[in-house]
Amino acid sequence: MSYCVNCGVELEASLRECPLCHTPVMNPREIGRELPPSPYPTAKGQVEVVKRKDLGILVTVVLTAAAVTCLLLNLLVFSASLWSLIVIGCCLCLFVFLFPAIFYSRMPVWLMLLADGASVAVCLFLFTFVTAEDAWFVQLGLPIVAFLTVCAEIFPLLSRFFPLSILPCALCVFTEIPAFCVALELRIRHYLKQPAHIVWSAVVLTVCVIIDIALVTILTKKRLRNEVRRRLHF
Ligand SMILES: [Zn+2]
Repeated sequence: MSYCVNCGVELEASLRECPLCHTPVMNPREIGRELPPSPYPTAKGQVEVVKRKDLGILVTVVLTAAAVTCLLLNLLVFSASLWSLIVIGCCLCLFVFLFPAIFYSRMPVWLMLLADGASVAVCLFLFTFVTAEDAWFVQLGLPIVAFLTVCAEIFPLLSRFFPLSILPCALCVFTEIPAFCVALELRIRHYLKQPAHIVWSAVVLTVCVIIDIALVTILTKKRLRNEVRRRLHF
């Protein structure tokens, strides 16, 4: 049994230097003798890091396979309705949602949101073939998706003109939420042919107005703004 002269660690007979401190091993009794083979593997057992391209191939193949197999199953076996269009629509949405993360990370945010909104609209349109009537799509689905897309597009649009921090973003969110709720309730009432007035969205509106007033006060008073930033660490 050998030990390192420098750090004292126990040494394997085949080692030419200490694995810890790299001090050369010289055993006078071993000079001239062939060293036994090293017990440690020479190849590094590291797995290559997965690239985005590989992930993209996997996602594309899985989603395409899911869509195609469901379509075939629909056409050949369970052909009472076009239910596979729901699966195809969901696969399309997933693909569009994942596209910027996997294939094109430099995609502008506004374009990404527009593509997301369009894919959801197409998905809902495909659902109309299953529900056999499209009034809900024209009067509810499409306007709601369009409104949500516009709400989301406001953020990249605003960030073009001035840097968005958390407080103005929160103000924007708490303005958009009641606007969306009021529009949604009015749309639903219009679809159900009910008189146009707001009930539950009025509650949301009230709460959000109070939050907005608080946020505007904080934003306009420098000392308050700094105190909030200091306490919440942003
Ligand atoms: Zn050593």
